Amino acid sequence: MFKISAFGAAGEVGRSCVLIDDGERRVLLDCGVKIVPKERSLPPSGIEEVVREEGIDSVILSHAHLDHTGYTPRLFQEGYNGVVHATPPTRDISHILWLDHLKIEKEEHYLTSFLETALLSTSLHDYREKFRVCDGVIAEFFDAGHILGSSSVLLDWDGVLIWYTGDINTSKTPFHDGAKFPDEEDIDIVISESTNGTRDFPSRKVVEEDFGREITEVLERGGKVIAPSFAVGRSQEVAMTIARWVDIKGLDAQVYLDGMIRYVNEIYLNYLDEKWVSPRFLSWLKDQGLSSPFEMEYLREIDESIKRKEAFRKQISKNADPCVIITTSGMMEGGPVHSYFRYACTDPKNMLAIVGFQVEGTLGREIMEGRRQIVTTNGFGNGYSVEIKSKVKRFHFSGHSPRLGLQEYLLLLDAKNYLFVHGDSESCYALEKYVKHEAVHSNGEVKALKRIEPAVIPS
Ligand SMILES: [Zn+2]
Ligand SMILES: [Zn+2]
Repeated sequence: MFKISAFGAAGEVGRSCVLIDDGERRVLLDCGVKIVPKERSLPPSGIEEVVREEGIDSVILSHAHLDHTGYTPRLFQEGYNGVVHATPPTRDISHILWLDHLKIEKEEHYLTSFLETALLSTSLHDYREKFRVCDGVIAEFFDAGHILGSSSVLLDWDGVLIWYTGDINTSKTPFHDGAKFPDEEDIDIVISESTNGTRDFPSRKVVEEDFGREITEVLERGGKVIAPSFAVGRSQEVAMTIARWVDIKGLDAQVYLDGMIRYVNEIYLNYLDEKWVSPRFLSWLKDQGLSSPFEMEYLREIDESIKRKEAFRKQISKNADPCVIITTSGMMEGGPVHSYFRYACTDPKNMLAIVGFQVEGTLGREIMEGRRQIVTTNGFGNGYSVEIKSKVKRFHFSGHSPRLGLQEYLLLLDAKNYLFVHGDSESCYALEKYVKHEAVHSNGEVKALKRIEPAVIPS
């Protein structure tokens, strides 16, 4: 008898933390926080007591995003002394994100020393490598196509097969070829993300085309494109989308990368092989005569080599040379993008390209919905009142499968039971309804599915 509990990500996106408990063994899948605009992040609800009172045998992280990993060091502070299973890129990216999170929220959730403990406790595994989780439980990571090192997890629990999707993207993106499936056919329980359970958007190919055309137009009229972007994954994808336009359409572009992006680029460089990155991308890189995607001559990182960074930002914003600036933070809550609001977004010939999801309550969401009068909040130009006069355009890049992709994915898994997490309640219920009523399974029958409520946070 399994008890599967979600201590977060139950009818919400954020603080993923799923415990599988069969009465003897307890395995935790992910342990993240929920980033809340303008407030402290939220931890999963009540996982500390489980660690203290019952104990956990093992922890598995699907990928590095903070909503899946951000609370992991706290487990050690509560007395957990086992290992954290992860892929090597997940460990490396988590390290950067944890440090950044500590910088922002200080020791809100755990003491700094436990970050080190968590890192030292990682046990690293490649995709498709079986590893022992605890007695009778074997796990295997599969490429989830979401970010570098992201995984879906197959658990063989005394012969019961449990598939945890993590965050999945079934679309091809510059670095990845889309989420992979387990070879096993008799999956007993699927624990699936539901981010876009009710949402469809244009295919990645259409989005990339649209983005390419729009930036070409801006650059050709001598303008600048400011693309606030997440440091992990999206920034690199957007840079490579531009690189394809330079390669195929002869676009003349100067691209700058500003903020934490450069540290993540360094991690990408350590994993540029077929194990972690699409062979399609690697052969394209080879055709370009490049060993790194970030060594293109028109691409420049705004790093320590630039002494007066703020003056440099002003200069590239104000001079006559067209350019694209990819910069943090992705939801525009802070970071160097605020400098560009001030220097570049007041000019109608420029464009603010929204390339990432904007959570309700963030400045990015407000700008996306029409707000134009803002006050800058970064360390250099704090408190400047700015009116955004540049064109604001949203591009539907997504790290998650849209509704139809998710449905197809669930259909192919053809499992006996489904549990939906990591989506608002509407999305979780929509997918549950889909697998119960609408999915026609491979044998032509609709299987009787046990009803599992969207996960409930234990009180
Ligand atoms: Zn994610
Ligand atoms: Zn997530």
